[in-house]
Amino acid sequence: MHAADARRTVGAVMLRADSTIDFAKTRWSLGGLLFGRWALARGRTVYKPRWRSGRMAALLAAQLHRPLAVLELDRRLLWVYRDRFYWDDECLGERDVEALVADRERRSRRRLERAHALLAAESGGAESAAAGREGIVLEVKRRVWERCSGRCVECGSDRLLEFDHVIPLALGGSNGERNLQLLCAECNRAKGDGL
Ligand SMILES: [Zn+2]
Repeated sequence: MHAADARRTVGAVMLRADSTIDFAKTRWSLGGLLFGRWALARGRTVYKPRWRSGRMAALLAAQLHRPLAVLELDRRLLWVYRDRFYWDDECLGERDVEALVADRERRSRRRLERAHALLAAESGGAESAAAGREGIVLEVKRRVWERCSGRCVECGSDRLLEFDHVIPLALGGSNGERNLQLLCAECNRAKGDGL
């Protein structure tokens, strides 16, 4: 596994979101009778259990308020909560899933706020940020470069490196050595994109 991939997985290792699976209506005929049921499906693969429309509607309503385990596959449980699916391979309880999803949402929100701050700093309205960027003294750059061994701290690449403010200038971060790190252009963009 790529080092950056491993790092990205750590935060979400207890609960993995899955956007490739969804509820789908399935139909089949048996002895001349046509049956219709709802089931979980990924591409052409349809899983059991299958639910009648009434049960499906109840399930969809309930998952808005609490996590529901809807499928067991390869010793993993699939939870549905607020219209999203999550795999759990650690036998989590309903409360655990609720807490972990809340934590994910909090982190997403922080990343989003940070991305907005970065954007604001990059486009106009951020003379202080522009001035600040010029303000990184050469000696500080040299020390940051040495500390990071001339490589991106996220993926280890030594190409297209940029000096990144750990805490953005717009959020009160400084040009001090400890607030700077090396990121390659790609990782820097990914950091800004957040999600
Ligand atoms: Zn990188």
